[in-house]
Amino acid sequence: MSLKEKILNSRIGILGAGRSGMAAARLLATHKVACVVLDDAPAERLSLQQQELERLDVPYYFQNIPQGLIDDIDIVVLSPGIPLSHPFCEQARQKTIQILSELELGYQFASAPIVAVSGTNGKTTTTFLIAKILRLAGFRAKEAGNMGDALCDICITPESQEENSILVVEVSSFQLETIQEFKPYIAVLLNVSADHLDRYPDVEAYKSAKRRLLINLDEENVLVTNNDDSVCREFASETRAKVRLFSKTPTPEASVWYDNGEIFLRLPSGEEKHLCSVNELRLRGMHNVENVMAAAATALLLNVDPDSIRRGVTDFLPLEHRMEFVAAYDGIEFYNDSKATNLNSLEKALSTFDKQVILICGGKNKNEDFRQLAELAKEKVALAILIGEMAEDISRCWSSHLPCRQVRSVEEAVSTAIKEAHPGDIILFSPGCPSYDQYKNFEERGEDFKHCVMNYITQHLWDE
Ligand code: ADP
Repeated sequence: MSLKEKILNSRIGILGAGRSGMAAARLLATHKVACVVLDDAPAERLSLQQQELERLDVPYYFQNIPQGLIDDIDIVVLSPGIPLSHPFCEQARQKTIQILSELELGYQFASAPIVAVSGTNGKTTTTFLIAKILRLAGFRAKEAGNMGDALCDICITPESQEENSILVVEVSSFQLETIQEFKPYIAVLLNVSADHLDRYPDVEAYKSAKRRLLINLDEENVLVTNNDDSVCREFASETRAKVRLFSKTPTPEASVWYDNGEIFLRLPSGEEKHLCSVNELRLRGMHNVENVMAAAATALLLNVDPDSIRRGVTDFLPLEHRMEFVAAYDGIEFYNDSKATNLNSLEKALSTFDKQVILICGGKNKNEDFRQLAELAKEKVALAILIGEMAEDISRCWSSHLPCRQVRSVEEAVSTAIKEAHPGDIILFSPGCPSYDQYKNFEERGEDFKHCVMNYITQHLWDE
């Protein structure tokens, strides 16, 4: 029996009633598969989910998962936010019940080819870049993942069944932990650096989860990856898939490369072609040049003409909370990079500017060592304003290198930054840590930053 047939004939326990769990419930309800949704949160926090599940006629248990329920379950669908160490997964493992991610479930029902985008940073931006280019070239491309719809939701739309349809799916390490047959036509791996050390015991364990992107690839698939990243190169040497490389230095092995402010392509004919200048991009920073190169290499594989690639990458605006330009007032520029939730993305944000910035950073502790960025911060940061659970820790790591100040809130951080800023300065909000110590998520944190900035500006316009 194929895995899809097994799913269609199983009783499924969906663990987690968030975005991906609810998408799994909708997909299974559409196919009339028996399922139940489980979540540890109390019903008061899940009232919207409760209403929808009642409409779908899908049973649910919130806060307390009944003893013995596991005996009525054949497959568990696990939401990415819940670790495999959850007691319900432990019970499933003891009974050798299969645990699948929402990604695997969606894959089983997807009829369009999949481009899967993974990496520590840049997944969402690159997913949207690729989908935009593909749409310009006439594909019916849809992005799935963190910012688009969940894959399971897309797979029940009639458009995803149409010819010329292609799904560009952002894939996290958490989802990869429980894939089984997931085999994208093209896999894009942008970079691999230490992350999520609050969930993985060490970097090797995180790397192993990322490596799972490649487990089902064979000669008919392609891995697009970063020639300048040692882990990506290691994975490229291991895979059975064809490999297409992008690189920040001109190299004959790369299909897309950067050279002195310009981006070049190697066409399938072997001819070299200039794609665009970096200063034509609206995205900022070398990390975004890498994302653009990955997207261009992917589009080339799908026979997209260089003109559509060029239009796609030069028209693309930064996504919200990712090096997003907020405002300029009194000669001071404000940037919101609330999605910077790890050291690597903070490092890229600091490297983007060719002058010193006033940096607001900090947030929840996830066991990252800020000493690693002390030298760069000394060079790039005039003043570090530190917030959240990590404020003390970052101050300990940096204060002998640069001026640091601890504050209680983003609001206080913004007013402190503005007091210290002069015309020509940049105020950069790039936390380098998750948001959960003070906010629901990075979006709420970024909104708060923008709100504080706009409040200041309107108040001062009013006073003028
Ligand atoms: P992800 O979906 O992997 O979290 P995003 O595109 O949402 O990636 O960007 C997350 C953060 O990482 C932002 O702060 C962004 O500026 C930064 N970033 C984007 N692309 C890259 C990259 N290729 N390398 C490092 N950092 C990046």
